[in-house]
Amino acid sequence: MKTTEHKLTAWQAFAHAKCPRCRRGDLFITGMYEFKGQEMHKTCSHCGLVYEREPGYFYVAMFASYALNVAEMVTLAVAISVLTGSSNPWLYVSIILGVAVVLSPFNYRYSRVMLLHWLTPGLHFHPEMSEDKAE
Ligand SMILES: [Zn+2]
Repeated sequence: MKTTEHKLTAWQAFAHAKCPRCRRGDLFITGMYEFKGQEMHKTCSHCGLVYEREPGYFYVAMFASYALNVAEMVTLAVAISVLTGSSNPWLYVSIILGVAVVLSPFNYRYSRVMLLHWLTPGLHFHPEMSEDKAE
């Protein structure tokens, strides 16, 4: 039986938005920048994990999204200041808001990945669930 081919590291599973328990099934049906928006699978196609752990579970992802936004805005503000030396507030506002819009699909996706991978107590990687299914 082949078992080692699909092993992903924690970072690979995070970056590719895989199931936190088996690192095999995809979390999202759609790509990050699809016009119709991002849709999630209800359960993992490999191990059957239910992604929405309880009603309203993904509301918690808003806090992760908020943290991502703040980190991006602070980084941008420092970068604009260092690169341009400008003190014109409109330069900062327009660049930061523009980038926030462009990054919002990224924030939406990775706030949910962060929630499932890092912020949920009792949800961990189970190597035995990563094995190929018995046929
Ligand atoms: Zn899974």
